[in-house]
Amino acid sequence: MHVYGLVGSPVEHSLSPPMHEAAYEELGVDARYVTLEPDSARLGEAIAGADALGVAGLNVTVPFKQDVLAHVDPSPTAEAVGAVNTIDFGPATPVGYNTDVDGVTRALEHHDVPIDGESAVVVGAGGAGRGAAYALADAGADVHVANRTVERAGALAAEFADLGVSGDGLDSLDERVPTADLLVNATSVGMEEDATPVPAELLHDGLAVLDAVYAPLETRLLRDAAAAGATTVDGAWMLLYQGVEAFERWTAKPAPVDVMNDALRHEL
Ligand code: NAP
Repeated sequence: MHVYGLVGSPVEHSLSPPMHEAAYEELGVDARYVTLEPDSARLGEAIAGADALGVAGLNVTVPFKQDVLAHVDPSPTAEAVGAVNTIDFGPATPVGYNTDVDGVTRALEHHDVPIDGESAVVVGAGGAGRGAAYALADAGADVHVANRTVERAGALAAEFADLGVSGDGLDSLDERVPTADLLVNATSVGMEEDATPVPAELLHDGLAVLDAVYAPLETRLLRDAAAAGATTVDGAWMLLYQGVEAFERWTAKPAPVDVMNDALRHEL
């Protein structure tokens, strides 16, 4: 039996176990997916221990996505983003991937939303904002990052300057969103309360809006976007496709996307 899992803290309410185990059942893969909360001071030992125990693959979530880079051989994308969310223990040295990046692009592709050559605004410059900005810029979009803390947007833009990413405060939304093709909410706004990081009057029918928030599935931003005639993509699509990409890297099999999607949405 193969063992896969998720390391992070907290992980007890993670949606990854039902999503991955539904795929194992569908394809007859003899595997289990477990959740693990390592001692943060012993992350390196935890990764080496998992490798020694024959664990086949691990997902990595908050707060370990950056720290785990030092304990794996990162893919070029994981290195560029500065975060790993998927480890493959197959090679002699464990390889770290960033499938959150694929989560963004594949969620948009699923909804026939073009990226290459499009004008994109990412709201948020935290972990999800970094991944989304890199994903879109690497796929050929012209990306602007708007963030509450202006310095953080500036630092991200400087880091991704080669990809043409710009950054500024939230007031830059007024100018950027009306002419944008793509909008990604990568802040946590909309999760705790019925709030939106983007004023409704800026949204328009030429826009595709991806909200990284997946609880609730229908955020105020997505409601406002639908009312403005925009294409909407909820955060579960992003979560689904980072899992699909991890599954495919680990098993080298095409993932049963519909089965994984049903299992995920059943939990939300
Ligand atoms: P994070 O690293 O803590 O970053 C949080 C971001 O939200 C920062 O840009 C922060 O701005 C901004 N923010 C927080 N409160 C705000 C407010 N009241 N007004 C304006 N901006 C505010 O968190 P993260 O890991 O990037 O996660 C962000 C969201 O994405 C969460 O809801 C998370 O669940 C979701 N997410 C979803 C997926 C998925 O697969 N669907 C994957 C990853 C994350 P400052 O820099 O100014 O603090």
